[in-house]
Amino acid sequence: MERVISGKPREEDAVFDTSLRPRRLEDYIGQDKVKDNIKIAIAAAQARSEPLDHILIYGPPGLGKTTLAHIIAAEKSASIRITSGPAVERPGDLAAIITNLQEGDILFIDEIHRLSRVVEEVLYPAMEDFALDIVIGKGPGAKNLRLHLPRFTLIGATTRYAMLTPPLRDRFGAIYRLDFYDRKAMETIVGRSARILKVETDRGGIGEIACRARGTPRVANRLLKRVRDYAQVMAAGVITRDVSIEALAKLEVDQIGLDEVDHKVLRTIMEKFDGGPVGLETIAASISEEADTIMDVYEPYLLQLGFLERTPRGRVATRLAYEHLGLPWNKNRQPPQGHLL
Ligand code: ADP
Repeated sequence: MERVISGKPREEDAVFDTSLRPRRLEDYIGQDKVKDNIKIAIAAAQARSEPLDHILIYGPPGLGKTTLAHIIAAEKSASIRITSGPAVERPGDLAAIITNLQEGDILFIDEIHRLSRVVEEVLYPAMEDFALDIVIGKGPGAKNLRLHLPRFTLIGATTRYAMLTPPLRDRFGAIYRLDFYDRKAMETIVGRSARILKVETDRGGIGEIACRARGTPRVANRLLKRVRDYAQVMAAGVITRDVSIEALAKLEVDQIGLDEVDHKVLRTIMEKFDGGPVGLETIAASISEEADTIMDVYEPYLLQLGFLERTPRGRVATRLAYEHLGLPWNKNRQPPQGHLL
């Protein structure tokens, strides 16, 4: 089940995502280190009149990977072609896309970790040598042919850096990790979105949405939209602190952005498995959620808050998590041993 706090795109986001998406680097809020590196890379490529190096952007859903790819294209005045790992089913699909690219174009592949092995193998020479190897004919008479491609830039995005194969990872010239946004950046994002949507707000209203949006712009925009609807019907359209609190309570999003599933994950670990360690699959099975959803949507934020720890033997709930849920913390529990990064 998809929730209001999920960073994954949903149908309701489509129009919103486009109208609220920053178009240029200067409008892209936060992620300063990544922005600085991108500015330098673009300036350097421009000075050499060369296309940009291939770029990999990774981080949880909704943090702005796709937005950044569009911005890079806009800053480079390049055309962008968009596809995704699951959409490119066969090597021929990828060959069709890359043979249609022009010099300097950007190819954006979302969820690049989901490309199949055979498709990935077409990508290697394309990225490295701007070449496409094709076999003509079958059997002993078959011939290998190498087609030269225009120099393009691949931008790959993924929520699962660890699932990328090393040969693919190695072919990116730059790898950027997007982090959850801090409170100040989130407030700026909510304020900016409210201005674009022409919704009346006050500081308190913005602050409440910002601190419950899990450091994720897509979630912030979605919460803003829901609170706006609530304000329109219940409070003459103005988003104040009280209106935000009421609306978000109705959505069952708590003061720090956790919803019912986060609570279930934590309670399961604490109550059924004595605080952990317990494997993610086991947690998923006991609350009837998909392990992938927990891994992509719930776990990253719980780890960021320091509510969960990953150990070689499974997930462990921390003291902070017990405190947040108001459950007694047992000091005598074995501390988790060894950390998996
Ligand atoms: P991802 O590709 O990582 O899932 P998107 O790039 O689609 O995320 O971003 C989701 C939405 O969040 C965008 O439509 C945009 O409105 C907003 N957004 C993302 N990053 C930023 C940012 N740095 N500043 C302002 N808004 C942002």
